[in-house]
Amino acid sequence: MPNNIDDLISLAGIGRKSANVIMLEAFNMPVGIAVDTHVKRISNRIGFSNESEPSKIEQDLLKIIPPAYYKDVNHLFIWHGRNTCTARSPKCSNCPIKKYCNYYLNNV
Ligand code: SF4
Repeated sequence: MPNNIDDLISLAGIGRKSANVIMLEAFNMPVGIAVDTHVKRISNRIGFSNESEPSKIEQDLLKIIPPAYYKDVNHLFIWHGRNTCTARSPKCSNCPIKKYCNYYLNNV
């Protein structure tokens, strides 16, 4: 198994999201942010990115999230997406980051 993202992406069936997850979880080398459905939804709602394509969302996130946080940010997005910022009926009134969120500020 290659331990760099370019070689991982060159493997059949491995996209950038999976390569980022492998780099983080298998090699403990976070080099990017895996944009899954939670990361995409939350990034769009908060206003971190207006893009719909995962690779473009990742580039927007990499501009604002320091590398020291790459390791934790995916887990935070997933946790927040499963528990609070759910796809249907996000629990905005209980959200600890609502005052920073475009979706909340534009829909209250
Ligand atoms: S305020 Fe609502 S839309 Fe914004 S991050 Fe929180 S749960 Fe998601």
